Amino acid sequence: MKYFIETYGCQMNVHDSERMAGLLEQAGYEPAPEAATADVVVINTCSVRERAEDKLYSRLGEIRDTSRGTGHTPIVAVAGCVAQQEGSALLKRSPLIDVVVGTRSLKQLPQLIGQALVDDAPRIDVNAYEDVSFPLGVARRQDPVKAYITIIEGCNEFCSFCVVPYTRGHERMRPKRDIVNEAIQAAAEGHSEIQLLGQIVNHYQAPDDPTCDFAALLEAVHDVPGVERVRFASPHPRHVPMRLIEAVRDLPKVCKHLHLPVQSGSTRILEAMRRRYTREEYLELVDTVRAMVPGITLTTDMIVGFPGETDADFDATMTLTSAVGYESMYSFKYSPRPNTLALKRYPDEVSEETKTQRIVALQALQKEIQIELHEHTVGSRMDVLVDSISRRRDWELSGRSFGNTVVNFPGPREWLGRTVPVRVTRAGAYSLAGVLDSRATEA
Ligand code: SF4
Repeated sequence: MKYFIETYGCQMNVHDSERMAGLLEQAGYEPAPEAATADVVVINTCSVRERAEDKLYSRLGEIRDTSRGTGHTPIVAVAGCVAQQEGSALLKRSPLIDVVVGTRSLKQLPQLIGQALVDDAPRIDVNAYEDVSFPLGVARRQDPVKAYITIIEGCNEFCSFCVVPYTRGHERMRPKRDIVNEAIQAAAEGHSEIQLLGQIVNHYQAPDDPTCDFAALLEAVHDVPGVERVRFASPHPRHVPMRLIEAVRDLPKVCKHLHLPVQSGSTRILEAMRRRYTREEYLELVDTVRAMVPGITLTTDMIVGFPGETDADFDATMTLTSAVGYESMYSFKYSPRPNTLALKRYPDEVSEETKTQRIVALQALQKEIQIELHEHTVGSRMDVLVDSISRRRDWELSGRSFGNTVVNFPGPREWLGRTVPVRVTRAGAYSLAGVLDSRATEA
């Protein structure tokens, strides 16, 4: 039996898919190269943005159309946030779904598929299991260089626009022991970059070590032999203690990059979003981080068109964007999500046309900022961890700088997973181009 997993959404979902792949392989399934040749298709969904369900149903239709006439109909399992949110409603609405498995019941997936195969009846498990353990060595990591390691599941913050606390449940910490063991194993397998994942990583407090907060966890992972780089996503701007900034500054393998999701530049909108910091507090944090860690790159998430966002509020978003000068930004138009406070409390009153105008303006500004920041790097030397080989040109490598900028340069594929010195020769909006810095190599 062969399986295929399609993944939508964030890094957490990517890693959940790696875990589901491992569970299925442990149960005897083998990976298929595409959905059309798989006996089991798992669709790992995301519901952070609207139309997630529509996308799911259209994908189900495609799977049905592909299998029609071939005599081969795969078992279809829906996992992830839409599965958790909609539960049995999915089975009622679509006869094409055989299994629904929630975000907290992934470990049940092989068993549910096995049962559905036996009697051809749909199965569902969206129970809120508290268990955050996951057996060591089971996840099938997709990336040869990066290893995702979940440190926290769920979120208690309940920002008014966000569906995550409803789909991933309340915040649960993994033991430090499990996290460090996973990092040791990932490094031993050749993954030189560890990415620690959690909805709010800086909330981390080890359940098995009262002295271990997130800064201490960074230190523990940093010290694992074979680890060359440590990244994390994402901290909440409300909870960034000095200890954490010092850890980023002082631990040489911790990347000098901070993803600080701001969501809006207007204090009035931040309050309606329940972010619990003001524009001024956020900018103060940016100043502190930059003063303590010179050269650090900052990235962010931004929402435009939140209910009640006026032209003045949007201007505040634009001026904050210019003031900070982000290395990159994920920007989205607001869309009401099920169960959220914003859906209950505020009518979605900013027109689609205005949302579109605002996102276009914001993205154009962000692009200008990126071009300017990147142009300043031409001629400089960066240590690039090679994480992929170009699909079109196998002599071209791609990697990331310590500050998380994508850098493309010519080199042999044997350098995959190695950190090499690159001199930047050209700047684009989304990446840099360079050549191996031979002076540095000779030195
Ligand atoms: S901090 Fe806010 S935006 Fe982030 S996952 Fe929690 S509720 Fe969602």
